[in-house]
Amino acid sequence: MSHEQLPTDQPAVVTVGLPYANGDLHVGHLLGYVSGDVYARGLRRIGQQTAFVCGSDMHGTPIAVNAAKQGRDPKELALEYHEQYQETFPQFNVEFDNYGHTHDETNTEMTQEFVETWIDEDFVMEKEISVAWDAETDEPLPDRYVEGTCPYCGEKARGDECDEGCQRHLEPGEIEDPVSVTTGNPAEYRKQPHKFLRLSEFQEYLQEFIDRLEGTEKARNQPREWIEGELEDLCITRDMDWGIDYPGDDRDDIVLYVWVDAPIEYVSSTKQYSERVGTAEFDWEEVWKLDGEIHPGTEWNDAWRDDNGEIIHVIGTDIIQHHCVYWPAMLRGAGYNEPRAVIATGFVGIDGKSLSTSRNRAIWAKEYLDAGFHPDLFRYYITTGSGVESDIDFSWDRFAERVNGELVGNLGNFCYRALLFASRNYEGTPDVDASPEVRGRIEDAIERFEQAVAEYDVRTVGEVAVDLADFGNQYIQRNEPWNLINDDPDAAAVVIRDCVQLARACAILMQPVMPGKAADLWSQLGEDSDVSVVELEAALDAPESEFGEPSELFTQVEDETIEELNEELRERVEVTAEDSADEQDADTEDEPTMTDIDPVEDERISFEQFQGVDMRVGEIVEAKPIDGADELVELRVDIGVETRQVVAGLKQLHDVDELPGTRVILLANMEKAELFGVDSNGMVLAAGEEADLLTTHEDAPLGTRVR
Ligand SMILES: [Zn+2]
Repeated sequence: MSHEQLPTDQPAVVTVGLPYANGDLHVGHLLGYVSGDVYARGLRRIGQQTAFVCGSDMHGTPIAVNAAKQGRDPKELALEYHEQYQETFPQFNVEFDNYGHTHDETNTEMTQEFVETWIDEDFVMEKEISVAWDAETDEPLPDRYVEGTCPYCGEKARGDECDEGCQRHLEPGEIEDPVSVTTGNPAEYRKQPHKFLRLSEFQEYLQEFIDRLEGTEKARNQPREWIEGELEDLCITRDMDWGIDYPGDDRDDIVLYVWVDAPIEYVSSTKQYSERVGTAEFDWEEVWKLDGEIHPGTEWNDAWRDDNGEIIHVIGTDIIQHHCVYWPAMLRGAGYNEPRAVIATGFVGIDGKSLSTSRNRAIWAKEYLDAGFHPDLFRYYITTGSGVESDIDFSWDRFAERVNGELVGNLGNFCYRALLFASRNYEGTPDVDASPEVRGRIEDAIERFEQAVAEYDVRTVGEVAVDLADFGNQYIQRNEPWNLINDDPDAAAVVIRDCVQLARACAILMQPVMPGKAADLWSQLGEDSDVSVVELEAALDAPESEFGEPSELFTQVEDETIEELNEELRERVEVTAEDSADEQDADTEDEPTMTDIDPVEDERISFEQFQGVDMRVGEIVEAKPIDGADELVELRVDIGVETRQVVAGLKQLHDVDELPGTRVILLANMEKAELFGVDSNGMVLAAGEEADLLTTHEDAPLGTRVR
């Protein structure tokens, strides 16, 4: 049974993955918060009562480790970042209805209540496990206190997650070759009794849950392999002081694992919101709690759905397992409602490379604001550059290009022209009806907007207004009201009335993605109401009859500004690279010389396996850059029997215009992929970081198989 389409007549809660109070915010973080904010505003716009809540994640080992290194109290350190986040979010027009933190009283009580229910329902058990221990200092080393090797994929990993490899959550005792991050001592494993949530009890429930779950593709599919395999019970306690005390009366030496109290903050933050505005306005229990008669862990009943609100989580791809496996089991075990949808956002790259705070290849929130750009420009850029679940590249060049083209040149230009012409010739809206063509266009745009919200498509929510303005520009160009006003004044009045109507619709439709600019446009249209509470259908209502001359909504981003910002980023990355190179030199003085060449794979493949690899001689016949992707090129490669469309990362390394005519080797039976909305059917072989293209020495005919 599928869910009733949004909007429903129940309240909704939209949450975003909690920011971890241990560092400054950068554009990678902001993608999630902005997407969540755009989505929550979009939901309200289509008539769904919505609370948008979040809070800072204060516990866990990274904060404890960082505080220990600085000789500070973890609470003091985390609160400092918490306050910084509270200030930063509104500067990006990210407006939470409530923003709490996991260490506050509400969340401490709520978390302990959850765990007490699990204990009462026998979902908690004690097991002896191996815990990493620093023998020299005689201290336990939970989670991030150790680093080592992932037992699943062999990559370097943190104590609690394989962050550079397979992204798996790692249970205590799982990481191999653990080393203390504070002392550098190799850790040993000791047996310690710990508390576990019996996840295995929820396996059947989770398998059904994942079929009901809505949201983005990855969030719905990636958890299947975990849920269908054997579900390991989840260790919910740690040997440390910083955290929420385990509430059972048999143990006072352990605290709850950070991933227990972190998602519960979604509930606590909603509760705080209810307490502030009153339950008559927003009742947190209507969303989160099932009827009190329903026993925790009881088999799910689809009928409950109509009586409860909608829970929608916006998260990063790296925490899908926590939200689509652990979290629903935690809720179910406490007698709570389940998430309706999970929207997983992709990763943000910088200039075609991955964002790396350790290499300082990042654009910081503060840096964006210091450059003096309006927050709405960033909001538009980051949410519409690619689908919400795809990775998106941030580059200052591309930012300027899109702001200048789509916002200044299209949306801003259209609204300015329309309102200027209207105010100069009619002192506002001409006193005629809008044409059926334009009303139809606006109706379509509204429908597209509603559909996008119902389908969790944040990108389209952000694009609708700009697309409508694009139509407006063509419409004004086609009808030339500046000529018409002398030749046929009646017709000119209709054209201008249409344009004012379109500008009005743009203000309403752009509000979720650009709330500040929408308010500006709304007041230029002579309105004194708040555009954020106007209904979507009001886009078709008559505009105010009088308004004055408009001002430009957006200003051009200048080349010099972008050059400066690029230069700053380049210098920063270089300085950091030199620093770490120095460090490495110092570290490896007595070590044999390291080279950058990967060692040859140990594992041999058979001739049969090699024969399964179908490589062909091909020739690039067409090459063009891909919008929004700084490195990627769309190629058409002739391989004799057919011409393939292939996406390749060559743009920064090869002159795109010179690619046609180049002979290449194409891996023809590579699985198909979609990159930045472009289908890629095959892979062009190239060597190394510089993408040195493989070619042939003689003239083997196109399509010849490489053996
Ligand atoms: Zn791994």
